[in-house]
Amino acid sequence: GNSATPPASTGNSSNGNGSTGSANANGKGCTKVGVLLPETASSPRWETYDKPALQKDIQAINSNLTVDLYNAQGDPNTQRNQADQALTKGDCILVVAPKDADAAAAIVTKAKGMGIPVVSYDRLINSKDLNYYVSYDGVAVGKLQGQYVIDHYKDYTKNGKNVVMINGSSDDNNAHLFYQGASETLKPLFDNGTLKKVYDQYTPGWDPATARNEMDQAMTANQNNIQIAYVANDTMANSVISALRAKQLNGKVLVTGQDATVTGIQNILLGDQAMTVFKSYSNEAQATADLVKALINGSDTSGIIKGQTTKTPGGADIPSVILQPAAVDKANLKQQIIDSGYMTKDQVCSGL
Ligand code: BGC
Repeated sequence: GNSATPPASTGNSSNGNGSTGSANANGKGCTKVGVLLPETASSPRWETYDKPALQKDIQAINSNLTVDLYNAQGDPNTQRNQADQALTKGDCILVVAPKDADAAAAIVTKAKGMGIPVVSYDRLINSKDLNYYVSYDGVAVGKLQGQYVIDHYKDYTKNGKNVVMINGSSDDNNAHLFYQGASETLKPLFDNGTLKKVYDQYTPGWDPATARNEMDQAMTANQNNIQIAYVANDTMANSVISALRAKQLNGKVLVTGQDATVTGIQNILLGDQAMTVFKSYSNEAQATADLVKALINGSDTSGIIKGQTTKTPGGADIPSVILQPAAVDKANLKQQIIDSGYMTKDQVCSGL
C-alpha cells in the first residue's frame, strides 16, 4: 500500500478520521515559513531548482513573509536540528523534503504539538500527522522508465539481454515508488526470459560514487556483458556512464535516468543516456506555494487538493497534490525542454 492514490479512488481530507488534514492545520496569519531540503549531491535539483523556486513562489504570497531555507546535507539528525531551529525562530508553517521518511516523522510530531502544519515536499514523510503532500506520481516515473526499456531494448540486445537495476535510496519513499513502477512494467519481460535481471540494488543516499561502484561491480560480475542499465536518476546515470566509458561501452548500453538535469540532457544528446523523466520543479514549487498561501489565509484547500490522498507506508491518508511526469529522449527533447522554455539552448549546450 505504498503508493500515490489516483484521484478516482481517493478518500477525502475532511472525512472525519481526525488524524490528518486541514482541519488540524493552523498556519493562519503565519509570516515565517521554514523550508527544509534533504541533501545536495544526489541531484542538482534541490539547490539549483527547488530552493530558488520555493523561495520565490512562497515569498510572492506576501511581502511581509520571511522564508527560512535549510539543507540537511544528507543527515537526518541535521534535518531534525534544522527543524528545531526553524521552530525556535518562530516559523509557523514547515515545508519539508525529508532526508529520511521515517526519521522526519519526529519533525511532524513536534510541529503538530505546536499547532504548526507541515507540507511534505516531493518525498513523503511517514507520519499520520502530516498535513499535506506535494509531489510527482512516483509509480508513474518508474513506469515511464520501464516502458522506455520495453519500447527500445531491441536496439541494444543483439549480443545479450542482461539488465542492471540501480535504484534510489531506500530511506526515500520515492525510491520504492520508482522501483515499483519500473518492476511492474518490466516483470513480463523478465518472466518470459526476454530480458534477464543480473543486478538489483538500492543506493544509500542516492550517492553518485556508490552508484559508480555498483555499476563497476555489476560489470565485473558479468564480464562487461550488460545491455540495459535501469538507473533511477540522472546523477547516478552519469556515474554509470563513467563506468561504461572506462570500458568504451558508453552509448552501447540503454541507460535510463530522471530529473532532466543539464548533465542528463547532455548525456542524451551525446548518445550515452537514452532517456530521462521530466518533472517540472517550477510546477511543484508553485503547487506548494498555493497550499502555503491557503494556510496563511485560512482558506479552504479543497480546490487545490481535489479530494486526492496518498497513503503513507504506515497507512494514513495524506491530502495531496500529485503531478504527472513525462519521458524525454532525443526525439522529443527539443519540444519538451527547450521549446517549453524549461531550459535555454545555451544552458543545454554549456560546456559541450
Ligand atoms: C526525487 C528525485 C531525485 C532523487 C535524488 C527523489 O526523491 O524525486 O527527483 O533525483 O530524490 O535527489
